[in-house]
Amino acid sequence: MKKLAEVLKDWEAVIGLEVHTELTTLETKMFCNCRLSHDDPPNTNVCPVCLGMPGALPVPNEKAIESIVMAGLATNCQIMRHSMFYRKHYFYPDMAKNFQTTQGPVAFCMHGHLDLEVSGAGAKERPDATVEKDADGGYVAPIRILRIHMEEDAAKMVHVGGEEGRITAATESLIDYNRCGTPLIELVTEPDLRTPEEARLFMEKLRQTFLTLGISDCSLESGSMRCDGNISLRRRGTTEFGTKTEMKNINSFKSLHDALEYEICRQAEVLEEGGIVYQETRHWEPSRRRTVVMRVKETADDYRLFPDPDLAPFDLTDEFIDRCRARIPELPDAKRDRYVADYGLKRADAAQLAGDPKVAAFFEESLEGVAEKNVGTLANVMVNLVPSYDALTVGQVRGIAGLLAEDALTFAQAREVLDAINGTDEDAVAYVDAHGMRQSTDEGALGAIVDEVLGLCTDQVQQYRDGNKKVLGFLVGQCMKAAKGSGNPKAFNKMLAEKLEG
Ligand code: ADP
Ligand code: MG
Ligand code: ZN
Repeated sequence: MKKLAEVLKDWEAVIGLEVHTELTTLETKMFCNCRLSHDDPPNTNVCPVCLGMPGALPVPNEKAIESIVMAGLATNCQIMRHSMFYRKHYFYPDMAKNFQTTQGPVAFCMHGHLDLEVSGAGAKERPDATVEKDADGGYVAPIRILRIHMEEDAAKMVHVGGEEGRITAATESLIDYNRCGTPLIELVTEPDLRTPEEARLFMEKLRQTFLTLGISDCSLESGSMRCDGNISLRRRGTTEFGTKTEMKNINSFKSLHDALEYEICRQAEVLEEGGIVYQETRHWEPSRRRTVVMRVKETADDYRLFPDPDLAPFDLTDEFIDRCRARIPELPDAKRDRYVADYGLKRADAAQLAGDPKVAAFFEESLEGVAEKNVGTLANVMVNLVPSYDALTVGQVRGIAGLLAEDALTFAQAREVLDAINGTDEDAVAYVDAHGMRQSTDEGALGAIVDEVLGLCTDQVQQYRDGNKKVLGFLVGQCMKAAKGSGNPKAFNKMLAEKLEG
């Protein structure tokens, strides 16, 4: 198969995503009062409503409606005042009532958009001129959102025994209805995405937005956020859509990118050999790095969709919508811009810190009482060191940043210290002092060492003066050795250069 970059010269990829997000932060299910928890023993959080007993009546969870309205407002959607729940019929044991309660043509949220900033290596994936590139080759891709609707999750099924990966007569299928009835929002994009990287960035931005809203734990790994990728190709310069395939089983950002990349290359090969792409559902196999057919779609599914007679149509008031709007915290883009403006951070660093509300809160807490000139170092520590650790305290991070800012520690030493104190309540500064790691920048003490080394290494001093500037590194090494590691290499470097040039 050809490489992605090669394929994208001749073909344009058309990608649309369908993203399901469980509202895991709520306490109860969508239409009953059962506890929302997947960790309890199987089939303990169930009742006549979520088990589909005849005659049981659903009652909508108002907090779930608040969450979806917040999601809609945060993604620039129109909030529809009038909408209804529908029944989508299918027969499968994961939904005991034989229909899923979902929404019809009008969803709570319609016609929004998210704008993606694509930069770096990912920007190279889009070779066409349909986007305006900035000086660094980056561009903004506006991605329209068709709708976000409210529905409920199905039960979890586990298949035990039989052949690996296949259901046979020997397989036993187990069902856990704890998940059945979990409030779920489905977001559907217009087919506006053009590269695997754009798709990955869209998911990332959506995850950051929902995390910041606090409506879900958004875990791709555990399945509380799931994504199907729809993809087709068309010749560059043409406008008609090709036949799409739909990719399932995507449980990481990397899988989303890699599955789309594979599928683009596969479809290009089929089309270039004169074949046809079938409209089918395919399954991504990460271990073999390929997609395989799950199901060919020959006809449209017939779900016999009709309004649910047990649930009254909705009539959202302005007051309700305003209340939802008031609950929206500062979103990642605004936070990023504020970090750039207030602390002079690099845009990419600011975006990384602003993207995760926990990281942003930690960063802002650690900033308290920190001198303005040290904010850059603190941000640097947050971006480059903190993500490798799971249990650092604000005080420890502040301590490390302070030591780095005054050149009392090298970056490598900072790692060493964090390795040792992560998960403890040990103070960073106290640790450094107790282990004699603090590097001196004292001009007097270091100056004496510099003079001594210059007096001993007369050959190297001559080489330097003859134009071989590389011996400076050797001389710094000699100083470090003489100081038994307690001198700051940057300070030695500066003092040596001054004396040699002078
Ligand atoms: P289906 O009826 O097969 O579910 P939809 O029209 O509901 O298809 O669209 C589902 C998703 O597929 C949407 O995200 C949409 O943007 C995307 N999509 C639709 N047509 C195409 C196409 N030709 N190529 C790629 N994606 C598409
Ligand atoms: Mg669909
Ligand atoms: Zn229930």
